Amino acid sequence: MIVVMRPDATESDLERVVEKVRNLGLTPHVSRGVSRTIVGCIGDEDRLREVPMLSFPAVETIIPVEKPYKLAAREFSAADTVVKLCCNGTGGVGDGAVHVIAGPCSVEGRAMLLQVAESVKKAGAVALRGGVFKPRTSPYSFRGLGPDALEYLAEAREKTGLPVVTEVLDTRQVGIVAQTADVLQIGARNMQNFALLSEVGEVGKPVLLKRGLSATLEEFLLAAEYILSRGNRKVILCERGIRTFERALRFTLDIGAVPFLKKETHLPVLIDPSHAAGRRDLVTPIALAGVAAGADGLLVETHPDPDRARSDGDQSLTLQSFGVLMKQVERIAAALGRSLAPIAA
Ligand code: PEP
Ligand code: MN
Repeated sequence: MIVVMRPDATESDLERVVEKVRNLGLTPHVSRGVSRTIVGCIGDEDRLREVPMLSFPAVETIIPVEKPYKLAAREFSAADTVVKLCCNGTGGVGDGAVHVIAGPCSVEGRAMLLQVAESVKKAGAVALRGGVFKPRTSPYSFRGLGPDALEYLAEAREKTGLPVVTEVLDTRQVGIVAQTADVLQIGARNMQNFALLSEVGEVGKPVLLKRGLSATLEEFLLAAEYILSRGNRKVILCERGIRTFERALRFTLDIGAVPFLKKETHLPVLIDPSHAAGRRDLVTPIALAGVAAGADGLLVETHPDPDRARSDGDQSLTLQSFGVLMKQVERIAAALGRSLAPIAA
């Protein structure tokens, strides 16, 4: 942390700041320039972060040097974190191959889920995702089938061998969802639900963390830090579009977030082209852009009859178009020396 003093700061102002820094256990290094003096503070920045240094009238600004996230930072781990979605098979998300997770926005019934599961598996998806508890903007919209849908997910896993991913909305659901799901999804609207982040940090299952609608990348990584700091190191990030002034698409996919995050953190990064696009015809090109930008995989909404889906039908691919997407993803991946992840045996 660097403390920049105002040009009119006196020697006694400087002394007070230096003493404060020293009292916090950091070592101050004073550097006098032509017009202003700065104090470089060596030591644990977190201690200084907790003190309102700007309340010293002679302090003009504070420049942090260290990242506020530690466990999520690239410096913490030179090797990429690889998150296995289930206990069998080798590899995992982050191993270089493209991992595609697919399924309906909501689990609407047993038959439809089994049909989607068989179909996405055949097309090359490595995991099945289906919403059991759905976050909906309106309380009158369909909010998921609840616990029955967990049973359908378990049956689909049994029949196909695909690990299952589903969202937890609330700390009270973590126990019941974690009993069945292989991966717990935290939705965009819950990215800063700190109690929920801490709760899933206590669970030994991977967490798929979606970026909040208006979260900065720093806030996104700090949300991941909540989970990591509770001891759960199996975190997968998912960029799903943010809210900007642009209204043509449902959200604006922040494509630059992919290469940025790949540099800034060792955690794997997925793209969700479905929520970003909000409409079926744009899902595949956005997905391809995500893979081209270096994403570790995709999260794609797929439905046997999207026009009759109970949630997010407009953006859901038919099973057939999902197959086409997979073929194109494979070609983009190959152009970059990558391949689709094999399905766990
Ligand atoms: C979803 O994945 O179906 C969903 C609700 O996503 P998000 O939290 O990104 O809006
Ligand atoms: Mn959805």
